[in-house]
Amino acid sequence: MELFFRVSSCSTDLFLPLEHFVKSVFLPSLLGRTVPGDVERKLFALPVRLGGLGVFDPSIVVSQQRSCSVEVNAGLVGLIISQVHQLGDCLDAQVQLRSKFHSRSHQEQLQSANHLFDELPPSMRSSVMLAQEEGASNWLSCLPLKSHNFVFHKTAFRDAIALRYHWLPSACPTSCACGHSFTIEHALSCPKGGFPSLRHNEVRDLTTNLLSEVCNNVVTEPHLQPLSGETLQYKTANRDDNARLDIAANGFWGRRFERSYFDVRIFNPSAPSNQPLHSAYRRHDKEKRREYQQRVHEVENASFTPLIFTTTGGMGDAATQFYKRLANLLSAKHSLSYGIVMGWLRCKLSFSLLRSAIMCIRGARSSLCCPIAEAPIAVQVAEAHM
Ligand SMILES: [Zn+2]
Repeated sequence: MELFFRVSSCSTDLFLPLEHFVKSVFLPSLLGRTVPGDVERKLFALPVRLGGLGVFDPSIVVSQQRSCSVEVNAGLVGLIISQVHQLGDCLDAQVQLRSKFHSRSHQEQLQSANHLFDELPPSMRSSVMLAQEEGASNWLSCLPLKSHNFVFHKTAFRDAIALRYHWLPSACPTSCACGHSFTIEHALSCPKGGFPSLRHNEVRDLTTNLLSEVCNNVVTEPHLQPLSGETLQYKTANRDDNARLDIAANGFWGRRFERSYFDVRIFNPSAPSNQPLHSAYRRHDKEKRREYQQRVHEVENASFTPLIFTTTGGMGDAATQFYKRLANLLSAKHSLSYGIVMGWLRCKLSFSLLRSAIMCIRGARSSLCCPIAEAPIAVQVAEAHM
């Protein structure tokens, strides 16, 4: 939603009817739920990176925008009044004032997010923390374009918002196909129907496709060589003759012929077994490394990186390093800035994870997307306003 305001010295009360409409008509239609309470409304007004929806309250924002406009344009107004025709350093001063205003408003948003956090019901606090993780909100920060597959249909969008705020999606069954009572936690982890594997494969295949652009010899599900007497330190090390990892590629970390192996794991950050979150990231990373790292180092003479994700789009440290490196390689190949490619990459991953999470909830009924021929990254970024 984009709104344009004409900033004037009028009373902010004039915008109260608009805010009333946003709260009582727009948000319920968008979210498919009843009118939000005051706390939820304040939450939705926060930027998406702070866990909100970026639907600001016009009656508040308009006065901030007005004082910014007065401050930023004071120099120009002075020149006009005194009828001076040389701009001097007026434009530079405007740029500085504008950036000062942006950093001040960023600080204010952070403060109101912190205040609001204490007012939220406990059930929503952890979901807002997850929504604030880097990578969890990129799907909300681009234009919903069907041509680039950055879009959800109505129910899927409402499901995605329900997952974001840990609400029960509408019209869900009372029990799962496996017999267990239906909860989001259960639906995201239940193996019935094979949805967690589909979710894993989505991320694996997206990563493989991108790696193929910048590395040689990229393979999905590469077999590891069978062991022939090598001793592996950990009890949980994989000693299977048919052991496979998710992806292998040459030259990813720098040396052209060096082989690297990658394995994806996606865990549900709301499950009680994954609390607290920072320990869960470490535990999943450690489990993967104990399972494969020594074997990959010593038998394959290669490197191993576990790619740990949460279902909501957060990434472990090693995965963050991996995708930063991938964004660097892609940005060099496509002559785009690193920041643009990283934002695009996070957006692709967050759509991929969300689509799969919705599939876990809705099952095969949810036809979420059809394959779309990919436009160049620069076109996607420009058209989706990333
Ligand atoms: Zn189940």
